[in-house]
Amino acid sequence: MPLDAGRREIVLGKVNIISHRCKGCRYCIEFCPSNTLAESEDFNEKGYHPPYVKSDAKCVNCNYCETICPEFAIFVTELEPRNLLSEDVVKTQSRARRRTRRE
Ligand code: SF4
Ligand code: SF4
Repeated sequence: MPLDAGRREIVLGKVNIISHRCKGCRYCIEFCPSNTLAESEDFNEKGYHPPYVKSDAKCVNCNYCETICPEFAIFVTELEPRNLLSEDVVKTQSRARRRTRRE
């Protein structure tokens, strides 16, 4: 934990998916740094599988999915700021460890 964690606030994101616009390219799923999204088994009107937010996922509000989506089918709104918790830091470390193992 950072030594000043008690004074730190973070703002997580709420992911909004406009399902009927999605073309199932998976860019948002593949490039999300916090592994927040997964492909649903449902079909949208176009016959594609739109993403959904995993139940244990934590969107870090980076807006990358919003930037990368070619169909403007996903956007993120800010949740209320809250204090940094130890689980926020641990999750980031374990992800970094997994990435190092893969390389
Ligand atoms: S805003 Fe960032 S962390 Fe949240 S779902 Fe999009 S890419 Fe993932
Ligand atoms: S990037 Fe956009 S179009 Fe591609 S899967 Fe995600 S929401 Fe759908």
